[in-house]
Amino acid sequence: MTLPRIVIERCHYLARCSEEPGAITRPIATEAMRCAQELVGEWMREAGMAVRSDNVGNLRGRYEGGGEATLLLGSHIDSVRNAGKYDGPLGVTVAIAAVQRLHDADRRLPFAVEVLAFADEEGLRFGSTYLGSRAVAGTFDLADLDRTDAGGITMREALRSSGCDPARIDDDRWQGGPLLGYVEVHIEQGPVLEARSLPVAAVSAIAGQERHRLTFTGEAAHAGTTPMNRRHDALAAAAELVLAVEREAGAVEGLVATVGQLEASPGAVNVVPGAATLSLDVRHADDAIRTASAKHLLARAAEIATRRQVKVASDLLAENRSVQCAPRLVALFARSIEELGHPVMRLASGAGHDAVAMSALTDVGMLFVRCKGGISHNPAESVTTDDVAVAIDVVSRFLELVAEG
Ligand SMILES: [Zn+2]
Repeated sequence: MTLPRIVIERCHYLARCSEEPGAITRPIATEAMRCAQELVGEWMREAGMAVRSDNVGNLRGRYEGGGEATLLLGSHIDSVRNAGKYDGPLGVTVAIAAVQRLHDADRRLPFAVEVLAFADEEGLRFGSTYLGSRAVAGTFDLADLDRTDAGGITMREALRSSGCDPARIDDDRWQGGPLLGYVEVHIEQGPVLEARSLPVAAVSAIAGQERHRLTFTGEAAHAGTTPMNRRHDALAAAAELVLAVEREAGAVEGLVATVGQLEASPGAVNVVPGAATLSLDVRHADDAIRTASAKHLLARAAEIATRRQVKVASDLLAENRSVQCAPRLVALFARSIEELGHPVMRLASGAGHDAVAMSALTDVGMLFVRCKGGISHNPAESVTTDDVAVAIDVVSRFLELVAEG
């Protein structure tokens, strides 16, 4: 069987490691994760790597080279609920395939390659993202160990019962000497590559993101007796903002803004809504554009509130700065893609990835692989063997170029 075919098959094998029969659901520190780690560990060893599991449950496969430095490759092997087969596992299996190729040719690079299979990126079980990569980057927040899952089990207990050692997570931080960077292959999770008929793209940056909660406060009133011109309808104000967000974000290149939650109160069929609470998620690869756009949208909310004689208040719930991929690594990916005869596209990622956490440790680079319909976090996730072949070739060429210095 060819390597690209093997990669696809392996993603299918991993799909069987699940908490839910007939679906892919693989949270950290579960039997399903142990199943996935066993398979990945076996594949790493087959590719000539020395394998170990760290204290948070990441699997690390090391292929020694000449010289002191190490290049990290990886992605995550946990999943969301009812996931697809490729979000995460593709990056791990493509990395292993690239090492397999070196091993088969009995080839050593002038640096070591370490493949990381992160134990938790999605945060399905404890609602905290990048646990695995934050442990390696040395930015793991020990307070997260007290988080509980839906069954009331703390992360500390869960890790312990799965054979990990939460007391020693600090030791997971990278201690293996100089790094050449962290490189991640991932499905695009968007429609751009498909629309351009391209198999892969070099990722230029990972978008920054901010989340707000807004509350419009009007006046709850009787739906039968309050004339239309006497109302202070909080939900109508919120609705106007939802449409303004959609319209105005669409006018800024590269900006995405979303209202994903909207709740009216008191929420009765015969009451004019007195309050409406909504979420606002704003993302752009350029932090200055993102913050300016969010500010503009909040000003729109204020303007709508004034005109409709209701009040509006907003809270910033979370903010993550954008991560720029290292120009050196982006250029090497671009050159690899070009040398293999494909048009080069540089693309910003709207979704977060382990590379965000790893950027606190070292330079990061990413390669996106086309996925069918841009669909992800869905069982319909799909990639082609041909595109996987391109991804493996690009990573192999990338390793050669890094070796040439
Ligand atoms: Zn992912």
